[in-house]
Amino acid sequence: ALVVGRRVRSRRKWKRVVGVLKELEESCETTVGRLKQVVDAMAVEMHAGLASEGGSKLKMLLTFVDNLPSGSEKGIFYALDLGGTNFRVLRVELGGQRSDLDPDVEQQPIPEQLMTGRSEDLFDFIASSLYQFVEKNDSVQSPITKLLGFTFSFPVKQTSVSSGVLIKWTKGFAIRDMVEKEVAGALQQALTRKGLNMRVSVLVNDTVGTLALGHYHDADIVAAVIIGTGTNACYWERTDAIIKCQGLLTTSGGMVVNMEWGNFWSSHLPRTSYDIKLDAESPNPNDQGFEKMISGMYLGDIVRRVILRMSEESDVFGPVSSRLYLPFTLRTPLMAAMHEDDSPELTQVARILKDVLDIPDIPLKARKLVVKICDVVTRRAARLAAAGIVGILKKIGRDGSGGITGGRSRSDIKMRRTAVAVEGSLYTQYTMFREYLHEALNEILGEDIARHVVIIVTEDGSGTGAALLAASHSSENVNNIQ
Ligand code: BGC
Ligand code: MG
Repeated sequence: ALVVGRRVRSRRKWKRVVGVLKELEESCETTVGRLKQVVDAMAVEMHAGLASEGGSKLKMLLTFVDNLPSGSEKGIFYALDLGGTNFRVLRVELGGQRSDLDPDVEQQPIPEQLMTGRSEDLFDFIASSLYQFVEKNDSVQSPITKLLGFTFSFPVKQTSVSSGVLIKWTKGFAIRDMVEKEVAGALQQALTRKGLNMRVSVLVNDTVGTLALGHYHDADIVAAVIIGTGTNACYWERTDAIIKCQGLLTTSGGMVVNMEWGNFWSSHLPRTSYDIKLDAESPNPNDQGFEKMISGMYLGDIVRRVILRMSEESDVFGPVSSRLYLPFTLRTPLMAAMHEDDSPELTQVARILKDVLDIPDIPLKARKLVVKICDVVTRRAARLAAAGIVGILKKIGRDGSGGITGGRSRSDIKMRRTAVAVEGSLYTQYTMFREYLHEALNEILGEDIARHVVIIVTEDGSGTGAALLAASHSSENVNNIQ
């Protein structure tokens, strides 16, 4: 009788866990109908953000990048890419003809204490790394000023293509004395302190670098999306559509707009109790809502929260592990490794649960449950990112919905090839994420239209693109906007 009683109890507990899973699935639901509402909301918010300063949670920031590299750039250019988990320095030699660029790249993790300390320490550290990198490749003493493209992957209110102030930090950076300060200036001062004869000639968001490199190789690229530690997008916009900046004139008639879509919000987003808690306990509550559902900094932590809840409500994971209470213990690459474990016994899942979360020896059934949680969380993220992309296409009339086709029926639409550059570890390293994103693009656009939309991966685009922009803006800072 004792054994039977236990079995009944454990069955009941299992039922409770299944209930938690079901609730998660329901609240993460992304039907095509719902995704289309997100598409519409994205396009609406883009209009609002362009109409007036503060008109939307989408900042739609001016970049002052009003022309993209043509291919005729010549010379040696450097770039510095700061804003994710790693920072990168790179050097590109341009020969005056479009070619496969083969930059020298070095990367290193940013020491954690520098992400939350004083800005001078961070910039001195960066300047030293840059100095060592230059020393290896060129003469640091050379009297010729080297030009640097600075990729700074945070929201910046630009005052020109080479200057701007930090609006706020995202993604775990929290250097208080930098907020509202001039970003390129802070780096320039550190370079000067270090005695490095180098000038910050462009200051760009990582999405803008990615767009520049993408467009260098493929002129059909209209937008760039990053899905890594954080998420964001930029695209090419006509200046007359940037209503908040009356009289904006550029020779090209357009400008790259940095959307800062990580901060997008809409009541149509499928939000769970885990998202609400994650947001409330984050250093930036009520901020970056879209990012917190999509990007690598957060996905693993959503999964941790679900496992914690299940563990508290049942014993399928054994006694509640204290590690489950630690924010960000389950990092997204490990979540991906569990999700993509294709061994029959799910040995990867078992290993990661044991090593990382201190949950040893759980039955296969429970390991399968963990895979399922990862699947639900990643699928939602990828599908929302897809909806964001279609939102941009809709805004610029490239979603096949009739803007450029005069309302003809879908079947006789002749849509132009439309390319979107994508970068970031979620898309490039996480196969399931990528597949879900493509699947959703097809569902939202319909296969006829989706056939004309291609996603192009740019490698090191955010950095290399900044070097290219440093080059295309090198003779003079082309900046006929004021
Ligand atoms: C930042 C963006 C950046 C994105 C991807 C976000 O947290 O606000 O500026 O482009 O991360 O790195
Ligand atoms: Mg990056």
